[in-house]
Amino acid sequence: MLPSSTSPAPLTWRDVIYYAKYGNPEPYRRVDKTDDEWRQLLTPAQYHVTREQGTESPYRNAYCRSYEPGVYVCIGCGSPLFNATEKYHAISGWPAFTQPVAKGAVKYAFDDSHHMQRLEARCNVCDAHLGHVFPDGPAPAGLRYCINSESLRRVDDKEDKKE
Ligand code: FE
Repeated sequence: MLPSSTSPAPLTWRDVIYYAKYGNPEPYRRVDKTDDEWRQLLTPAQYHVTREQGTESPYRNAYCRSYEPGVYVCIGCGSPLFNATEKYHAISGWPAFTQPVAKGAVKYAFDDSHHMQRLEARCNVCDAHLGHVFPDGPAPAGLRYCINSESLRRVDDKEDKKE
């Protein structure tokens, strides 16, 4: 077994609340585009989810029941967001992950829309809306990243993860 110092502790609900409240980790790079550029780059459905905080239909989405290996990257900027190994079946109708690929991959914000108090998950590189995080995931971290398939693209491990 590896010494614990080489495998960083998983993010917990406390960590993501802290990030939403006091600021997110620095991204490894930034991608910023104008609204016109995003509209040209994305399909209308991808644009609606990632740039207008939309929510796709439950169950009828690409990755809800898919468990292929690989890495899920941001549809907007190609940055790695989630490993397929962290994907699990949450019976929610959307892809669910227990952890992001790295602490700085996802940024968090409080979202009080639709008469709910939720924690929004965005790509930390291009600010694409991904979905929400909930504290009802599996042990040990207890997190459920409930993510729209439209905001993701799965790539094989061998494929280049950047666009
Ligand atoms: Fe992105």
